[in-house]
Amino acid sequence: MLAGVGRSVMKGRGRALVAIAAVLLGAFAVAASHAATTVAGLVKVRLGGDAEQTRIVMDLDQAATGKLISDGADGRAILVLNGSTAQGELQGGAQGLVKSWLIDQTAGGARLQMDLVAGAHVKRRFLLPPADGIDHYRYVVDVAPGGLAPPLKPGDVTLASATAAVAAKLRPQIVPVRATALSLKRVIVIDAGHGGHDPGAQGALGYEKDVNLASAQALKARLERTGRYRVVMTRDADVYVPLESRVRIAQHAGADLFISLHSDSGPDASLRGASVYTLSDKATGRSQRFVSRDDWFMKASLTGDRGVSDILLDLTQRATRNRSAGFAQTLVNHVEGKAALLRRSQRDAGFMVLLAPDVPAVLLEMGFLSNPDDEAFLRDPGQRTRLMAAVGDAIDDYFAETTRLASR
Ligand SMILES: [Zn+2]
Repeated sequence: MLAGVGRSVMKGRGRALVAIAAVLLGAFAVAASHAATTVAGLVKVRLGGDAEQTRIVMDLDQAATGKLISDGADGRAILVLNGSTAQGELQGGAQGLVKSWLIDQTAGGARLQMDLVAGAHVKRRFLLPPADGIDHYRYVVDVAPGGLAPPLKPGDVTLASATAAVAAKLRPQIVPVRATALSLKRVIVIDAGHGGHDPGAQGALGYEKDVNLASAQALKARLERTGRYRVVMTRDADVYVPLESRVRIAQHAGADLFISLHSDSGPDASLRGASVYTLSDKATGRSQRFVSRDDWFMKASLTGDRGVSDILLDLTQRATRNRSAGFAQTLVNHVEGKAALLRRSQRDAGFMVLLAPDVPAVLLEMGFLSNPDDEAFLRDPGQRTRLMAAVGDAIDDYFAETTRLASR
């Protein structure tokens, strides 16, 4: 059963954005054109330092702003360079406090993920403009060990002194830029719909929330067996989790893919089959308001201007929608034959749970609990496992394709 967002689409939003863009064109033409056409390219990555402090320098051919998704205190630091593009997937091994790192492309921009030693975290980060004979921008990330941060010593690199010569021990080494086998796992967030005092649809034999959770656990087991994924569950027990929290879990996990599992019900008991939903254009206005309230999408432009931020958010969602639709089609192809499919099995809808602006997301309605055959199918552990194996195959295919595109 679905949690619809309702009819709260902001009308005329697109026209308002165009008007804002026209007004800002003079002052912010450069920033806007970066986002629209010649986005900042991430040219090179260098790491330096030791267990006292580790520095990552990303060379950019244009300016970009960074957004820290996670500071690494829980083991993985995640930073997105808004509006920038990675030239394929880059990765590397241990250096100082960094155990391994990976740069890939998300809808919001190039994303740096680092697995850090216990307690280490991102201490500071800043953009350096071209200066001192260096003709390009550099985005610098400093990682510090756990415990109390040591006070700055004379000669420490600060934001003010960073353009000066960097201490020799911090001088980063050049890392060869090439796409190789991934060392970091893809993060899949599985969302078992409903839970706790929200039972969802009711079948003759039980509640939707229980079928959803059992399926989510089967999918988790399938994905973890491969060793290629880190699985995060929005719930792993019969508890109520608000929709906003589910989306936030996906954001904080740095999800590469969000899949929400539900079971349908309808007035006609003969209605059966699975459906796949993706985010529709109609929900975008709702998403933007939700986002600004929760401050997920911070000032994305160089100017920090709301108008430009809105345009960037719009672009982000367009790219994310495209990738969601790509995965949805792959999913339909794999689920076909494992479960009965509704005639139009891939449909757009504005669901709150799909509104994370930069995480590709789909909602799978696995079947109708109001149909006896579908309910028997979904309550059978063996059938459930087979259905989730098909979903796992779809996820494998999706990332195999994404990697091929990135390394092209
Ligand atoms: Zn549901």
